[in-house]
Amino acid sequence: MKRYSAFAIAREAMRHHEGWERAWASPEPKRKYDVIIIGAGGHGLATAYYLGKNFGITNVAILEKGWLGGGNTGRNTTIIRSNYLQDPSAAIFEKSRSLYETMSQDLNMNVMFSPRGVMMLAQTEHEVRGWKRTAHANALQGVTTEFISPRRVKELCPIMNIDGPRYPVLGALWQPRGGTARHDAVAWGYARACSAMGMHVIQKCEVTGIRSEGGKVRGVTTSRGDIDCDKLGIVVAGNSGHVANMAGFRLPLESVALQALVSEPIKPCMDVVVMANTVHGYMSQSDKGEMVIGGGTDGYNNYTQRGAFHHIEETVRALVETFPMISRLKMLRQWGGIVDVTGDRSPILSKTPLENCFINAGWGTGGFKAIPGSGWGFAELMARGHSTLCDGFELDRFREGRFVDESVAAGVAH
Ligand SMILES: Cc1cc2nc3c(=O)[nH]c(=O)nc-3n(C[C@H](O)[C@H](O)[C@H](O)COP(=O)(O)OP(=O)(O)OC[C@H]3O[C@@H](n4cnc5c(N)ncnc54)[C@H](O)[C@@H]3O)c2cc1C
Repeated sequence: MKRYSAFAIAREAMRHHEGWERAWASPEPKRKYDVIIIGAGGHGLATAYYLGKNFGITNVAILEKGWLGGGNTGRNTTIIRSNYLQDPSAAIFEKSRSLYETMSQDLNMNVMFSPRGVMMLAQTEHEVRGWKRTAHANALQGVTTEFISPRRVKELCPIMNIDGPRYPVLGALWQPRGGTARHDAVAWGYARACSAMGMHVIQKCEVTGIRSEGGKVRGVTTSRGDIDCDKLGIVVAGNSGHVANMAGFRLPLESVALQALVSEPIKPCMDVVVMANTVHGYMSQSDKGEMVIGGGTDGYNNYTQRGAFHHIEETVRALVETFPMISRLKMLRQWGGIVDVTGDRSPILSKTPLENCFINAGWGTGGFKAIPGSGWGFAELMARGHSTLCDGFELDRFREGRFVDESVAAGVAH
């Protein structure tokens, strides 16, 4: 793979851009691989990348029923933070955030990581106590956050109305090195790096069945024929329950639609990410100038990738209270993704009842930020059978009552 560089851009400019090679290959599936990953979203691709980079396992296929990054990875609002309450969450999300810091260099692809700072507003006394508690927990975990005053909130985000009629801003949990990144580029960067290691990223290849023998995984049945493997990773987000069913076990999660929208582009007016959990809305400004807005999940299970209209109305209504200036903006696009939500709002990174079959699921509404950390830990789990980053996120926890309860810290927040 040729490296992207300023020199390469200058050279290609002289050659009318005819010398660029394809970013990743489109190979035909082989009959057998050491490892198959189902799902070419960020988590599946990152897992494959770290299997190769950290463990030298490169006879790997990543099978994708649509196009890579076409699931939630290419549909999210790209918020990156690691200000979680529980220790296992802080460990994996902070590992992930730190990997984002050097991702562009590691992958030789500009993923536009922008550590502009994330604030989570406190708009009730309950939230003030909750965020202060999280700030103390983060201090013990080595995650840099602080609880800031309303005046500091206003300094950091002048367009905010902190005296809101229903819910005045009482402070915020501030993570200065949180931020955003370009979601497509994260998927493309990992795919390109996997392809360069000789792995097969195979698009338009839907897994329709999982084959096993003597309680061990043997391979998968796909829309492009049967493919064998020694180890299998299921990394399919909103389709997790469906694919786990093919492997013969059930998952304690629900699939629901979550949506987002963007406004017309405007001049720079906001250089931080703001999350308002009480009124339920999130906003940041993209490099193009669009205001990127996220809201809540549908209240019922579905696989539509669209979401109910009343959510857009509620989200915008909530944000207009805190950001009155957006009342004059036109909204350009709206879309949805299917997120898989567990009871304790924490992911599942685990072995399964089927030997050599592993599951990475349940990232719900907040898994974009976890892509590199999850890939790092899940690759180790698949290669070695254990990873400290995955400790606590086993499937058994739901049977044994060992929840990693993030519903206070994360709820349905991104
Ligand atoms: C509107 C919205 C906003 C969000 N905002 C944020 C945010 O701000 N910050 C944040 O951290 N997270 C956010 N998230 C969550 C985040 O997007 C997801 O947690 C994350 O992208 C999940 O990545 P993934 O790789 O697990 O799944 P995906 O990207 O969905 O990849 C799974 C892939 O598996 C494929 N697949 C499924 N079934 C099969 C099959 N049978 N055979 C082959 N392939 C299959 C799918 O086509 C898909 O491409 C948001 C999500 C949505 C929908």
